[in-house]
Amino acid sequence: EAEKGGKVGSSRIMVFVRVRPMNKKEKEAGSRCCISVVNRRDVYLTEFANENDYLRLNRLRGRHFTFDAAFPDSATQQEVYSTSTSELVEAVLQGRNGSVFCYGATGAGKTYTMLGTMENPGVMVLAIKDLFSKIRQRSCDGNHVVHLSYLEVYNETVRDLLSPGRPLVLREDKQGIVAAGLTQYRAYSTDEVMALLQQGNQNRTTEPTRANETSSRSHAILQVVVEYRVRDAAMNIINRVGKLSLIDLAGSERALATDQRTLRSLEGANINRSLLALSSCINSLVEGKKHIPYRNSKLTQLLKDSLGGTCNTVMIANISPSNLSFGETQNTVHWADRAK
Ligand code: ADP
Ligand code: MG
Repeated sequence: EAEKGGKVGSSRIMVFVRVRPMNKKEKEAGSRCCISVVNRRDVYLTEFANENDYLRLNRLRGRHFTFDAAFPDSATQQEVYSTSTSELVEAVLQGRNGSVFCYGATGAGKTYTMLGTMENPGVMVLAIKDLFSKIRQRSCDGNHVVHLSYLEVYNETVRDLLSPGRPLVLREDKQGIVAAGLTQYRAYSTDEVMALLQQGNQNRTTEPTRANETSSRSHAILQVVVEYRVRDAAMNIINRVGKLSLIDLAGSERALATDQRTLRSLEGANINRSLLALSSCINSLVEGKKHIPYRNSKLTQLLKDSLGGTCNTVMIANISPSNLSFGETQNTVHWADRAK
């Protein structure tokens, strides 16, 4: 496995960028495309000061970044899944935990990438589908048991999206940190899953002023737990568990806006503690630090056993192609670049 800069012991995070198609509103506003993806890997970002610039400058002269892969707006859901996440599904079947995050501003395509639509299911659904097909290939004795949990972190409150109700309390037991009373849905096939997740997504917190619209401050976490029995060298039966966490993060625009603020004003505004805490955990992991500050937020506590160590971590940075979102795109791409 590739180790970043030869630093043994530091966690390797796979980082991807996905550009969504320009939408009607952006087109009607006459926006220009400020991002180019070349060779499924290289990203060029250019802020065109005006129309003249746009016509004159070669787009490939912009600021250059390179990622594990970069997906242009034509990339399919299946391509995004296969390139970013299928290896993690394989690892879960070997008892290794992993996590996949979608990061980016509101409207950049995080929920589309993670959940998708009925016609174009996203990473969450494709991962479960692939998991069942891999299980079927491997065993015919019903050895594997799959459980799904779908939860939300909103304003540092944890809620069960499969069974909405009172907030869940996080407890530490010998298995790690668990949300007490969280629904563990036993899944037998893919067919039931899309509807279940769509329903769960409907249960996400909405902004009081904008009913029906999912709050851009809500993090949604799907946890897929696979348990199975194997025989060890001495033929003893042992239980193995692998867990994959798939996370549709809150919009990054507020976190970036609050980067410069003091912690006090952040607390006052009750904004994105979890997103900032995740950023510092990822930075600590990338720098190979011993101490990873998981305790600082609900999101990072929940992901403690799925982030760092021998876990696989995938980050998908979602961006809009329009120069109207240049600032957010630039912030997201820089953030993704630092996570490598
Ligand atoms: P976010 O969750 O980051 O706020 P969404 O996933 O809701 O953003 O995307 C905003 C809009 O753009 C939605 O209507 C979504 O269906 C559409 N969209 C996003 N990415 C794509 C894509 N790759 N292809 C087609 N439509 C997309
Ligand atoms: Mg969303």
